[in-house]
Amino acid sequence: MILASTRNKNEIKTFHQAIFIGLSPEGGLYYPTETPDMRDIISRFDKSISFNDMSSAITAEFLKDELDKKGAERIVNNAFYFEPQIKDLSENLQVLELFHGGTCAFKDFGASFLASSMEEFLKGKDDKAIILTATSGDTGSAVARAFHNKKNIDVIILYPSGRVSPLQEKQLTTLGGNIQALEVEGNFDDCQRMVKEAFSNAELKQKYKLTSANSINIGRLFPQSFYYIWAEIQGRARGKKPVFTVPSGNFGNLTAGLYASTWGLPVKHFIAATNNNDVVPQYLKKGLYEPRASVQTYSNAMDVGAPSNFERMLQLYNGNVDSFLSQISGVKIDDKETTSAMKQIYKDYNYLACPHTAVGIEASQRYLKENPQDWVISLSTAHPGKFLEVSQDVLGITPELPEELKVLQNKKKYSYKILNETEELQAFLKKHY
Ligand SMILES: *Cc1c(COP(=O)(O)O)cnc(C)c1O
Repeated sequence: MILASTRNKNEIKTFHQAIFIGLSPEGGLYYPTETPDMRDIISRFDKSISFNDMSSAITAEFLKDELDKKGAERIVNNAFYFEPQIKDLSENLQVLELFHGGTCAFKDFGASFLASSMEEFLKGKDDKAIILTATSGDTGSAVARAFHNKKNIDVIILYPSGRVSPLQEKQLTTLGGNIQALEVEGNFDDCQRMVKEAFSNAELKQKYKLTSANSINIGRLFPQSFYYIWAEIQGRARGKKPVFTVPSGNFGNLTAGLYASTWGLPVKHFIAATNNNDVVPQYLKKGLYEPRASVQTYSNAMDVGAPSNFERMLQLYNGNVDSFLSQISGVKIDDKETTSAMKQIYKDYNYLACPHTAVGIEASQRYLKENPQDWVISLSTAHPGKFLEVSQDVLGITPELPEELKVLQNKKKYSYKILNETEELQAFLKKHY
């Protein structure tokens, strides 16, 4: 896989190099420079293929210059001890549940794949790395879980104090060992800015071998394309192309779907569903991209005012809003619409949706009203049990907490509080690493 930076197309890297660099030297994001025609491979997959075998085949194809087949299989099988699941809500509406991994959210796919890729590439070498990542909730917990006890890798996670759910905080702060949580007095955009500033400091980056693991890392983005392909295979007998609805914040998940479609996955359309942080739907409406400070919503893992993957999307469409629009529609679902969707989804389908998933399903239903013949797959990004408080408030129901998360409740929190300034982060690094 040959990658270039969104800010410098001469900044060329292999997958192996790019996953350890994270953000490119000029602050750009790595994107695949080639769009291989995978139609043959994809059309040969059928329903009987396991998610891991399918993922191994794709990984082996993309990384054939860097890894042998066995290496690709090791990465995939060490990463995915869990699978996506598809459920029917109605005849033309399905949910693609991506929350059956260790932290019960879709970010487990990307984080686990990145961790096992790094492990594979570091194997037998005397190299070390520090993962520095900002989270609005779910990224950090998935990263913490995926990298916990991985050899030669330390993890530092910045999260906005008081703005992640109590359970998310437990996931970030209770692992210990090679995982350190920094509790930042500020919002998610502050955390993301501090990480970006640390990465743009060449000396710091070099000294600590800093690397990223949030959705800017291509090693997280790439595997997220697998479940789009898998979902299409499962419903291929319908004889239609699916429409994918993606509840979006930083737009990594959606971008991965767009990549899959450039390789030849049959997709009719994408729906980018956001909460009130709707800079991308606004861009699609007005042709103007106006990043802004994020606002807090029920679907807090989507509270992003300046989505980093927008650069990759622009690159994909050469900055042309019309090509963008031909493939993607934007929909904003506010908190009130989210909670009434949660109620309606529960009533009509007996399905408990987390607020993020509900944003997606509501957007899907609006689309189906206009296009009743289409087949819509709505990505379900987190287990409802992760957002207990919202379900209790809205539905008066306490969803069953998944076993993986139950055990966290009695664990003790360890975090280190810092101000929302990059100097504080630097001081912390100097002191502890
Ligand atoms: C991160 C997250 C999202 C948003 O995904 P992006 O790739 O950042 O757009 C949606 N839902 C949940 C539950 C998440 O954790």
